[in-house]
Formats: sequence, structure tokens, C-alpha cells
Amino acid sequence: MTYRAPINDMLLGLNHGAGLQAALKAGHYGDFDGDITAAVLEEAGKFATDILAPLNRVGDEHGIKLADGKVTTAPGWPDAYQRWIEAGWNAVSGPEAFGGQGLPLAINAACTEIWSASNIAFGLCPLLTLSAIEALDAHGSDELKKIYLEKLVSGQWTGTMQLTEPQAGSDVGALRTRAERAGDGSYRITGQKIFITYGEHDLTDNIVHFVLARLPDAPAGTKGISLFVIPKFLLNADGSLGPRNDAHAHSIEHKLGIHGSPTCTMVYGDAGGATGFLVGEENRGMACMFTMMNRARLSVGLQGVAIAERATQQALGYARERRQGHVDDAPTASPIIAHPDVRRMLLTMRALTRAARAICYATAVAIDRAERSTGEAARELAHARASLLTPVAKAFATDIGCEVASLGVQVHGGMGYIEETGAAQHYRDARIAPIYEGTNGIQAIDLVTRKLPLAQGRTVRAYLDEIARTVDAVDRVNDAGFGWMGVRLRDALDCLERTTHWLLARAHNDRDAALAGATPYLRLFALTAGGALLAQEALAARRLAAPLPTPSPSPGLTRGLRGEGRGEGHSADGADGTDAAGRIAIARFFAENFAVHAGALERSITEGADTITAPTAALE
Ligand SMILES: Cc1cc2nc3c(=O)[nH]c(=O)nc-3n(C[C@H](O)[C@H](O)[C@H](O)COP(=O)(O)OP(=O)(O)OC[C@H]3O[C@@H](n4cnc5c(N)ncnc54)[C@H](O)[C@@H]3O)c2cc1C
Repeated sequence: MTYRAPINDMLLGLNHGAGLQAALKAGHYGDFDGDITAAVLEEAGKFATDILAPLNRVGDEHGIKLADGKVTTAPGWPDAYQRWIEAGWNAVSGPEAFGGQGLPLAINAACTEIWSASNIAFGLCPLLTLSAIEALDAHGSDELKKIYLEKLVSGQWTGTMQLTEPQAGSDVGALRTRAERAGDGSYRITGQKIFITYGEHDLTDNIVHFVLARLPDAPAGTKGISLFVIPKFLLNADGSLGPRNDAHAHSIEHKLGIHGSPTCTMVYGDAGGATGFLVGEENRGMACMFTMMNRARLSVGLQGVAIAERATQQALGYARERRQGHVDDAPTASPIIAHPDVRRMLLTMRALTRAARAICYATAVAIDRAERSTGEAARELAHARASLLTPVAKAFATDIGCEVASLGVQVHGGMGYIEETGAAQHYRDARIAPIYEGTNGIQAIDLVTRKLPLAQGRTVRAYLDEIARTVDAVDRVNDAGFGWMGVRLRDALDCLERTTHWLLARAHNDRDAALAGATPYLRLFALTAGGALLAQEALAARRLAAPLPTPSPSPGLTRGLRGEGRGEGHSADGADGTDAAGRIAIARFFAENFAVHAGALERSITEGADTITAPTAALE
């Protein structure tokens, strides 16, 4: 089954959950308006459905070949990449000074979801290039920008991101790749990097590697790391491709999923040292890499949303066709979508997907505000908000990507386990996202130890206040369709407030307890924030819709499973008046079935730490 971009969901999420419309009204985006957003997403959806989605299976089955140092992608991929750059998709959010279209990151976030949903292994390549552009634009010298940015923005060349070494995974500070000053302003790099995505391929004629390495006199740990640009081909004075650099793919990995994406072991310096150029200052590479990683972390979160959306569309399609059992003594076998347990699975898939999308889009709008707001204070506040939300977006969205893809297999029954349906591919493809760009465990630790204490806790408290205002608005709405939504969200918020306070108090004096509770805390945070954002979308849909009949609980849930992207049309803000009841039903389902986990999560964080931190025979 092919993929159709859920444009209405995306627009509603962007405009009314994430706050794009408010940011537009505040003038942060200049001339840009909601109609352009809708038009861009519509075109992106067409490209994804027509060009990228058909190659998803091809990439999975064919995989990547390495012969004589050359990496070959699956049939049709180089051609699709050419079409991608010709259509200008690589340049959507790139800086205008280097040929980019300068569109808001929020729009690019929605596009990233579309590329990843149609073909996650293909979309991974530009995802990394865009992060590289970000780092080079923020930290590179004018000369480096002039040489590399235009080609990276257009997509004529791709970028890689290289941290990992055999002994340095989560602990980046343990890396050993060496950089020596060459005396002419350049550096000679020697060492090995593993698991490098698109480290070598046949989509473009040059690849620009962004590599972390250590100078001989550098301090130990992360304070002694520098970032270098290492092109596959060095450049002649006129900008044409010159000699091959001493940087090669030594081998490729055989993986559980994303078979279409090359994952390479890279070797630098077999012939004396690869020529590299410093980005930013010596020993300040982690700051540059954080720019790159933060952007990539949001994009990887969007991969989770994307795979969840794709799995949901496929499961819904199957559940409408497959007939088993007789619901209410029907004379013929009923479609499985009629069974309450299947409906529960499908509603779970849709609700988790939309909540994760809302959190990712809210993060993207916060990043846009951090860059585009007028006034230093507003930019700083937005930057703190983006920093707080980034680990939540990455970890929650990629965790639910796996959960939803797994449910997708389950909805298909035995056919889900058979490769033919494609449900199994989504499940395999989804599994990498909680691991790379910093494992989800590391994201949770980042949230608890670095993000909660931001501005002495004021950043997180301001966010909780915002959630409280949404819950107040739900309470005021007085609509039976909202069911227990307000009560459940308020309970969840109370749990989150108490737990945040508990963790902030322990961040310094009982760090192990804080670390032990980090993962359930991130989940609690995401369920509360996701529930509030879905409520905001439901309130907006209700406000913008034509007068609604009061939905009873069960038809309301039926609306929650209505299809998207089946030629329903959309308005510029995603609320077209046709499906407000469905949106309310999903927000309600989420609050009544997922926000209610908050109490259990609170107890596991505040009461469950001792058994984790104390010596235990259980792991002997
Ligand atoms: C397909 C694929 C593509 C990749 N692409 C790239 C790429 O393009 N560039 C790149 O640089 N890397 C890439 N990676 C590497 C990836 O980022 C790492 O695998 C990841 O960061 C985890 O590192 P590790 O594998 O060494 O696991 P480890 O660091 O060994 O972690 C193992 C487990 O221990 C936990 N853990 C480790 N340290 C701590 C701690 N301090 N506190 C709590 N828990 C901890 C982790 O959460 C994890 O569960 C890729 C990996 C894969 C599989």
C-alpha cells in the first residue's frame, strides 16, 4: 500500500498545536503565509507518493552493494535523487545567501516527515546534509561556507556526520581519530569511524564528511575535540573536483532495517592522512557538533512520526479489507476494524502518532522562534523551550515509532509477519531511530540533568504553566465529546509537576535517583505535553468547524479512525470543518487511555529508584 501525506493533520498540528499560526501573526516569518505552507506540503506529498514511496521496497530488498571501494545504491535511487535536487527539495529551509529558499524550519520538519514516511532510508541522506548545512552555516569560516554551502544546499553534494568509533559511542569524548596541523592551514586526519550513514554512495559526485577528531595537544574528553570538513574529492582552485582524498569506505554493515541506506566503516589516513579543514575553533568541535546533532535529533524524531504514520495508514487499509468473525451476529464476516480490540490498536496507533507529531512540530516552531523572533529576550526564551523539547521529541517519537509499527504488524495478524505486506519492513526500519543520534536513554538523561535545570527550572515551569492554560480551556469548553479529557490531563499535569519538582531537588544531591527515573520521566513529560497539544488541536478544530452535532462516545471514536489523504481536500490551516469530531475523539482517546499512565509513571520514578540504584542480586 502506498503512502499519502496526511496534509490536514500536518496543517492542524503545525498551525494550532505547534503554534505556527501565532508565530505567523506575530510576524516572525515575514511574507510567508499559511497558503504557502499548504501548497508546499501538497507538492511534497505528491513527490513522495510518486517518486520516493515506490522505491522504499526496492531499497529494502536490494540493499547496498560495495565492490572495489564503490558503494552502489538500489536501482532507481540515483535517478530519484537527481529529481529530488532538480525539484529543489533539498534547498527548502537552506540559507538564502547560498541558494536556499529560507522557508521556516517548521515547514521543513513537515517535509522531513513526508520524505521519511515515503522512504525512510532515502530521506536519511538529506536529513544529514541539512544538519551539516546548519553546523557549517553557524560555525564555518566565510571561505569554507563559500566553497561548500551552495553545493550542500542544492544537494549536489551530500554531507555526513561522523562521531562514532568502536570505543566511542554514547561516550563521544573517548574518540581517538587524530588531527595534525599540516602547516598550511589544513589538517591531516587519521583514524577510523564506524556506522557512518551515507559515508559512501553513488548519488552525487562528491561527499562532504563532517568528522570529529583530536589534536595531539588537546585536553582529554569532550573539551579536546575539534570538527573538520573532509571532502571525498579535494577541489581545484576553480572549484572543480580535484584528487581523491585519503578517506575511504572500508566496509558496509548488514542491518535489521533501513537496508537502502549505506552504513559504512570509514578509514582516514591509509596513505598518510586525509586533508581536513577546521570548522569553528580548535577544541570547540562539540559545540559545532551540538548544532548539527540538535537539528538531527528533531529530524530523527520526525522519522519516528513518519514510520508510525505509514504503519497506521497501512494497518487501517488492511483492517477495512480483512474479514474475520461476525460482529453483532452479522450474516457475513465483518471487517476486522469492527472488533473493539482491533479498534483499540488502530486508535492507539493514530493517537500516539499525532501526539508525537505535535511535540516534534512544537519543537520546530520553537527553533524558528529562537532564530526569527525580534528581541534578544524572546529569542533566548524560545531557544530554552527548543532545548527542553528536543530530547522529548527525539525519544518519545522514536519510541512510539517502534510501538506503532509493532501494532501495525499485529493488526495484520500472520500476514504482518510475512514480508509481502510491507508491515514488517516498517517494524524493522523503525528500530534504529531510538538508537542513533544519541540513544533514547541518553536523551532522557539530557532532559533530566541538563534541560530541567535550565534557568533554575524556570524554562520547564513556564512550559507546565502553558499546559495548565490548555487544560483550563478544555475545562471551559463544556462539550460532552471531550469526555474525561480535562480531568485526565489535569491529573497528568499534577503528576508531572510533582515529579519535576522531585527530580530538580535530586539533580545535585542524589544524581543516581534522578538518572534511574529519567526514562519514565521523559515518557510522563511526553504523555502530558502530547495530551495537551492534541487537546489544543481539538479545541481549534471545534472552533473552526461548522456547528457540530454533539457526538456520543462511540460514533466519536468512529470519527477518530476516519482516513486522511483520501482526496478529502484541506484548508490552509488544516481544519476544514469535516472532521472536528474525529480530532476531538483522538485527543479524548489519548487523554483517557495514555495520559492516565501518569500516576503509575510518577510512582515508578519517585518510589522505584531504590531497587535500581542499590546493589542487587537480581542482576547477578
Ligand atoms: C544504522 C546506524 C547508523 C548510524 N549512523 C551514524 C552516523 O551517521 N554517524 C555517527 O557518528 N554514528 C552513527 N551511528 C552510531 C550511533 O549513533 C551509535 O550506535 C549510538 O550513539 C550508540 O552508541 P553505541 O552503539 O556505541 O552504544 P553504547 O554507547 O555502547 O550504548 C549501549 C547502551 O548503553 C547505554 N548507555 C551508554 N552510556 C550510557 C550512560 N552514560 N548512561 C546511561 N546509559 C548509557 C545506551 O543508552 C545503550 O542502551 C549509527 C548507528 C547505526 C546502527
